[in-house]
Amino acid sequence: MSEQARQPLLLDLSLAQLERAVVDLGQPAYRARQVYHWLHQRGVLDPQGMTDLPATIREQLAANYDCQPLRFRTQAVSADGSIKYLWTVADTAPVEAVLMPGFDYGTALCASSQSGCGFGCGFCQTGRLGLRAQLSAGQILAQLYDAESRGGMTADRLVLMGMGEPLANLRSVRQVVAVLTGAEGRDWSARRITVSTVGLYKPLVELANTFPRVNLALSLHFTSAEKRRKHMPKAEPRLERLADALFNYRRVNGGKLTIEYALLDGLNDRDRDARRLAQFARLADIDRESELIQQALEYPVPPRQQPLPLHVNLITYNPIPAAPQYRPTDERRVSEFARLLSDAEVPVTVRRSRGADIAAACGQLGSEIA
Ligand code: SF4
Repeated sequence: MSEQARQPLLLDLSLAQLERAVVDLGQPAYRARQVYHWLHQRGVLDPQGMTDLPATIREQLAANYDCQPLRFRTQAVSADGSIKYLWTVADTAPVEAVLMPGFDYGTALCASSQSGCGFGCGFCQTGRLGLRAQLSAGQILAQLYDAESRGGMTADRLVLMGMGEPLANLRSVRQVVAVLTGAEGRDWSARRITVSTVGLYKPLVELANTFPRVNLALSLHFTSAEKRRKHMPKAEPRLERLADALFNYRRVNGGKLTIEYALLDGLNDRDRDARRLAQFARLADIDRESELIQQALEYPVPPRQQPLPLHVNLITYNPIPAAPQYRPTDERRVSEFARLLSDAEVPVTVRRSRGADIAAACGQLGSEIA
């Protein structure tokens, strides 16, 4: 490991830590706020580019901190306008993010919370890499800032739906949310951030209690514990536990909840799957006696709480060469499946993945670096 790599990452510092750091360098504390604004409001990570700071502090920061959280490797542009970026950390651990313009609200960045992933979901390319590195908050934020700078666009939303399981890296995710929603950072509403998870019970409870109004997307994909165990071996398999956690989230958090469901030919796209999914979307499986639910019921209902059933996003699956046993459901069946949900009064959207032509779509991220 190089000398530079051992230095603390400037972008990892909270404002309070930056204030201490600046004072330790013999500079007045108010300079920290200027540096923080350059980093998080303007996305300038190199102190030399912080042009209203005296040369001494710029040199001190550059000499004492690692100011390059990610090493840029390459980018690819999709026919739909999405841009996939590939960086590395720790020399060869890949980190990918996809900048997606053209939504009704503007532009979204789908970012990674880990390099690779240790959860091993059978249908996912990222899972094939295994966990390569846990990303720090600065390494997650740097994806946003670098993608914005290279793409010449400002992102309106951040979706943690790239590589990795965000709830297995809660500490960094917490700091990312704090920076983006902080008045000295991006001053975003928490509703502009979505955390996606395959479903981990305890972290879901923690997320509900600590990130008010952050949106949550549960990648359910299968409606039986047996199939979830088989295809998503490290996710919470029990539907009742997941329903408990979502009920609690909905009650105490107030963020928007969606269920993500990738349709897989013959594996989860039958009529009975649609019926079970509709039942789950009503959170019908919750254990009304559980301590968690009793606690959740004590919370006042947050304003504008999303009605039940929850919204289901049906995702057209993007096949990966390494797992030919997972095939996408054909278009006609996707429409039928959606209609079954609509008939059961479940709000449903069929989502076409962006960037499939550049392997940037859901489940396809997973570049190998030599
Ligand atoms: Fe990891 Fe998510 Fe892929 Fe599962 S689906 S292997 S949790 S990145």
